[in-house]
This record gives sequence, C-alpha cells and structure tokens, in this order.
Amino acid sequence: MPRLPHLNARLQGFGTTIFAEMSALAAKTGAINLGQGFPDTDGPPEVSAAAIEAIGRGENQYPPGPGTPDLRQAVAEHQQRFWSMTTDPDTEVLVTAGATEAIAATLLALCEVGDEVIVFDPTYDSYAASIAMAGAKIRPVLLSPDNGTGRYAFDPGELRAAFSARTRLVLLNTPHNPTGKVFTRTELDLVAELCRQHDVVAVTDEVYEHLVFEGTHVPLATLPDMADRTVTISSGGKTFSFTGWKIGWAVASPELITAIRTAKQFLTFVNGAPFQPAIAVGLRLGDSYYEQFVADLRAKRDLLGALLTEAGFTVLEPEGTYFTTVDISSSGGASKGESDGIEFCLGLPERAGVVAVPSQVFYQHPTAGRSMVRFCFAKRDEVLRAAGRRLIDAFAG
Ligand code: PMP
Ligand code: GLN
Repeated sequence: MPRLPHLNARLQGFGTTIFAEMSALAAKTGAINLGQGFPDTDGPPEVSAAAIEAIGRGENQYPPGPGTPDLRQAVAEHQQRFWSMTTDPDTEVLVTAGATEAIAATLLALCEVGDEVIVFDPTYDSYAASIAMAGAKIRPVLLSPDNGTGRYAFDPGELRAAFSARTRLVLLNTPHNPTGKVFTRTELDLVAELCRQHDVVAVTDEVYEHLVFEGTHVPLATLPDMADRTVTISSGGKTFSFTGWKIGWAVASPELITAIRTAKQFLTFVNGAPFQPAIAVGLRLGDSYYEQFVADLRAKRDLLGALLTEAGFTVLEPEGTYFTTVDISSSGGASKGESDGIEFCLGLPERAGVVAVPSQVFYQHPTAGRSMVRFCFAKRDEVLRAAGRRLIDAFAG
C-alpha cells in the first residue's frame, strides 16, 4: 500500500476499512450488499419508540460520563440473567460509543508502548488499528479450519508460545467475526490458565453473544479467577439491530473500569443520550425476543448456506455471528480454480450483482485465508434469495 501523506507511521498501511470500501462498491454498482455486517430491517419497535420518547422528554444533552444509571443497571441485569455474572452497575460498567470505542479505550488505557497484545488471527479489523494507536504490538495466533470438521481452531502450543513477559493483554472475540467460530469451554480454559499463569488481562469482544447456533456462549469472565482480570465488551448494535446507534459497554472490575474510563472520557466523553434508555429497554426484553432473534438468524444462515451451496461454493457453516464464509479455492462451478478473495470480491458486483467481503483483509498472516470470502446473512429473506439466485445464475448457470 502506498505511504499516505500526513498519516503517522503507526497508522500507515491501514487505508480505508474494507466495510466502507465494499459498501461504496455496492452503492456504485447497485449490487446486493452482503458485505458489511448490518441488518436491513430495524430492531424491535418498542426499542426505537423508547429512543423517540427520550428525545421528546429532552434527554438530549450530555449523559453521565460512565453512562446513564438505568442503562448500567440494565447491563448488570443482563449479565446476571444470561451469564450468571454479578456486576455492580455503579463501579463495574462503562457505557461507550459502540464496542469499537470500548476496545480502543481499553487498549489505550491498559497498554504501555511496546507491550504485546495476543489476538486470534483473523481479527475484526479495528483491533490491529487500535493496538497500533496504543503503540502496542500485535501478536497473532492463527485460527485454521480443521480439514475434517471445517471448525476453526488454534494450536494450543502456538498459544502457549505467544505468551511472554511482554504480553499485556489477550484480545479475544467469541462468537468470532469473520469465521463464525464459537470458542469452546476447553479452548477458553486454556486462555484463562495462561492469563492467570502470566498475570495477563483478557479483553473479550462478545458483540455476537446472542447469535450462537452451535455450542454455547461462555463469557471468559465466568471462568475461575477470571472475573477480576477480564474486560467483557458488547454492544446493542447486533443484538437489537440498531448498528448506527453505537451504544456499547465494558464490564470489568472497578479498577479496570476506572482505568478504561480515564481513556474513554477523552475519546468521545459520552455519546447517544436518547439511545441509552432505548438500549436499556432492549436489554430488558423478555426471553422470547432473544429466542426469536437467534431462531430467525439461524433460518437465514441455513437459507444462505443452501443457496451458496447450490451456486457451487464450499460453505463453512458458522457456529455463531451473522456471517457465512466460503472457500472459493475448493468451490466448483464457475469459480473453480480461483484463489484470491480480494480479486474475486472486486469482480463480484459486475459478475453477479452481489457484494461480499474478502476474509484475507482480517488476517495478519501473509497467506492464510486468501481464498475465503464472507457473506452477511442479516438480510430479509427475499434479499438473500435474490442474491442467491444471482450467484446461482453467475456460477452454476
Ligand atoms: N466487534 C466485532 C467482532 C464486530 O463484528 C463489530 C461490528 N459490529 C464490532 C466489534 C463493532 O461494534 P460496534 O458497532 O458496537 O462498535
Ligand atoms: N462489524 C461489521 C462487519 O464485520 C461492520 C462494522 C463496520 O463497518 N465497521 O461487517
């Protein structure tokens, strides 16, 4: 990538996010956008009504720095209800501008320049940039699809070897974007064991905590002796289908929250005053909302998976999240023999009228994931069917 003028050395090479690039391509070509991860319908009407009411009530000035007391209380209730985590809403919850700010503030607050942050490769794109902004070093541990099961896993020896005296944090995302992996209890036990052994803090990005189709979501903070050394991050964007509201949160010990808040207050200070009470309404929705949400997305996963298979693609079924990946290198049909996901995705709008995202942009590893392509299935069924038909016509027709 050419050197950008003005941009500091830490951020050289980051360019424009793949999501912005691919959504712009979709807008320009009129292709169906299965690239950037966002739903094409609004979330629950009682949640949007609560935001409108809050604006009407005049909740339009700066909310309190840590977040509104009611939203912090709702986050604490949610952690207890779903994950049996006991959380003090006054000292152990911090409301942020989406999970993205929670991650950035955590890295900026906890890392010294030169510290190492272990991540599982591929990673959500903001991690590498936030680690760089914090002056820290990214230490990737590769997730590879198992030949037999297609399930992504890491080599325990590689994870052990990644820990050293320089390790400050482990940054883990489960359910995992872009692979759809849900970390198992056994995998998390090893992460926890190594964190305890090396006195390392874990940061977990759990924005897809309610989108698990296979296995069970286990917050790392619930493992023995991990509550005080884990920062649990999530947001309302995915769970309530309001990605543009950017209401997120971090849950951690009072000491960690105080440190993170110190950085956060100078990033955005606060955000989203009328959206905070609305997300509190969302968090308190009955179990049937959460059950229906995952059931709907499971049906969409199955629908898109079947259409992609019919188009001749080798589909890696996700255990969680709202993304399905395909391996173009082992696919049949018209894509047979292709191996570069970037090239494939750049040509896809013209070839099939569909936009997808190349998984290789999420990788630190120079060659892994080159042939993987990610499709978002958080779309109306008719949109998924139309995209599927286009792909079938282009690749299997
Ligand atoms: N983490 C992961 C794994 C994501 O996929 C996303 C995208 N929504 C985010 C964080 C960002 O979340 P937010 O929009 O709440 O900042
Ligand atoms: N998390 C979303 C994705 O993975 C996109 C968010 C963004 O555009 N930054 O597609």
